[in-house]
Amino acid sequence: MLDSKVAIVTGSTSGIGLAIAKQLASSGCHIVLNGLAESEKIDTLLREISDMGVNAQYISADMSKPDEIEAMIADVYQKHGRIDVLVNNAGVQHVAAVEEFSREAWDKVIAINLSSVFHAIKAVTPIMKQQGWGRIINVASIHGKVASPYKSAYVAAKHGVLGLTKTVALELATTGVTCNAICPGYVLTPLVENQISDTAKARGISEQQVMDDVLLGTQPTGRFTSADDVGAMVVFLCGAAANNITGSEQVMDGGYISG
Ligand code: NAD
Repeated sequence: MLDSKVAIVTGSTSGIGLAIAKQLASSGCHIVLNGLAESEKIDTLLREISDMGVNAQYISADMSKPDEIEAMIADVYQKHGRIDVLVNNAGVQHVAAVEEFSREAWDKVIAINLSSVFHAIKAVTPIMKQQGWGRIINVASIHGKVASPYKSAYVAAKHGVLGLTKTVALELATTGVTCNAICPGYVLTPLVENQISDTAKARGISEQQVMDDVLLGTQPTGRFTSADDVGAMVVFLCGAAANNITGSEQVMDGGYISG
């Protein structure tokens, strides 16, 4: 379906990004992986993806560094002569009360979860406009729509991603390039698993209560969204049925914000 298209997925060495990269690969896209990981793991992932019959490449760009983001886009364009799909997925979390939230933690979360999306979109837009076709997909969060306590930087960043998505969609509306966001509820990945103990401390409850009440308790379906569900949504947004979908927020939250 997406045969020989070139897709960059930021933060794709783990969790949701990796599931997205694999689903795009199984739809025929050549894949650029990015993210933090040991070289052995990267080699394994590259092998798994190229075994699907597509090209797989890894670029180590640090998403908190604008120069590295621009260089990544330039490298991919130089190698392939096109960039069809950009999935802005890299993200980090920090859990602390606002008065205890360090400047460093705020700056890091904003840089990786929000500013990187801007820098990557800015660099890829001239390429996609010139092609007359492109798909920009931003992995925001249900925390782009609603807040949770102790996640000030993350919630601010994800609300910002939704504003940026809509603005870019309008600017590119007549160019053949769409820009959409996905808003998953909780997905059980390292990002969520690593915040359970800090959330328990910040709220003064047990880790089991975090799992049952804070995570699953917010989702009326009583289950996590899966990383593969998000990957399938990305493939849908790249497909023909989504040609006229732009500026949208695809909520995948088990009913979280319906209540
Ligand atoms: P994860 O921790 O499994 O993956 C995060 C990825 O980002 C990893 O590949 C990591 O190496 C990469 N990354 C982190 N810092 C980076 C940096 N400086 N430069 C480049 N890459 C970097 O987490 P995940 O849950 O798969 O999260 C992926 C995205 O999905 C994030 O944007 C997150 O906010 C969003 N999201 C997650 C959930 C959830 O419940 N897990 C829900 C909604 C949205």
